[in-house]
Amino acid sequence: MRVAFLGLGIMGRWMATNLVKAGHEVAVWNRSPGKEVQGARTASSPGGAALDAEVLWMCVSDTKAVENVLFGPGGAAHVLKQGMIIADSSTISPSATVRFAERVKTSGVSYVDAPMTGSKVAAESGQLIFMVGGDEATLARLRPLFEAMGKQTFHMGPTGKGQSTKLVMNLQIALIYEGFAEALTLGAKLGVDIEKLLPLVQASMVKSGVVEYKAPFILQRDFSPNFPLRLMLKDIRLALDAAKESRVRLPGLEAVEEVYDVAAEEGHGDLDYAATLTLLEKWAGVEVKAGAKAGA
Ligand code: NAP
Repeated sequence: MRVAFLGLGIMGRWMATNLVKAGHEVAVWNRSPGKEVQGARTASSPGGAALDAEVLWMCVSDTKAVENVLFGPGGAAHVLKQGMIIADSSTISPSATVRFAERVKTSGVSYVDAPMTGSKVAAESGQLIFMVGGDEATLARLRPLFEAMGKQTFHMGPTGKGQSTKLVMNLQIALIYEGFAEALTLGAKLGVDIEKLLPLVQASMVKSGVVEYKAPFILQRDFSPNFPLRLMLKDIRLALDAAKESRVRLPGLEAVEEVYDVAAEEGHGDLDYAATLTLLEKWAGVEVKAGAKAGA
């Protein structure tokens, strides 16, 4: 298929690479110049990438960025054609998604929200899991592209429901990781050996994929970004906004937002969200490390 791919960040770069590897004809665009994908045409504007494309795929930071690449100067909306499909893998506001879909509908364009789970590693290996909002027929047309980038696709309902689902997923990741990080911090203060604790956690009902994924990075004190803290904070805020609109109280997530707020203010926004642990460590006056003594 002829695909325009907008946004070559941590995730988009690998997603576009996997589309090229699967034999699709890909044109890419990134806001900052200098990011390219081997085998893809590099365009100088979103509209330039979208010219002649059957599918426009986006993977940019947030709601504003999506609005910008679609409707801003040089945006893709200026070159839309009847029958084209827009797919958005950015995590953005569900209600804005529905509005964007309405705006392009008048040009005969179908809009699918396709946020994903699985971090940089899954993007690179083509093992992402997509949660999709849109109609069945459009999803069927996109199947070869989902298969090139991911291992599973869940159809969650009409346009917008992919994004609502993604917020519900990341809410859980944020809370699970906060629980893990707080347990590690208290454990370090009490002198619990992290190398003995980790296998116990994974053998028990506390077991989690979040722990499995993050523990090796924590042991190596590697907080380089797989999923940047600033993006998790964005998702926490999106979930809290959606909760407010729906009159739902989320006291746990509100407390976690505060931790991320402070961590971002202290300059950790571009690190992985696992770096919220370092804030808890600072408050407690400990460091979580293998073989640490109580209070060390
Ligand atoms: P990233 O590395 O920060 O990349 C963000 C991309 O968005 C870059 O290409 C950036 O361009 C572009 N961008 C930002 N603001 C823009 C604007 N105003 N106009 C146009 N382009 C703009 O982020 P990422 O990790 O790839 O994440 C991308 C999306 O996927 C986010 O919505 C994120 O929440 C979601 N997601 C991420 C993960 C993960 O583990 N990383 C997992 C699932 C979902 P520049 O290069 O110019 O900055």
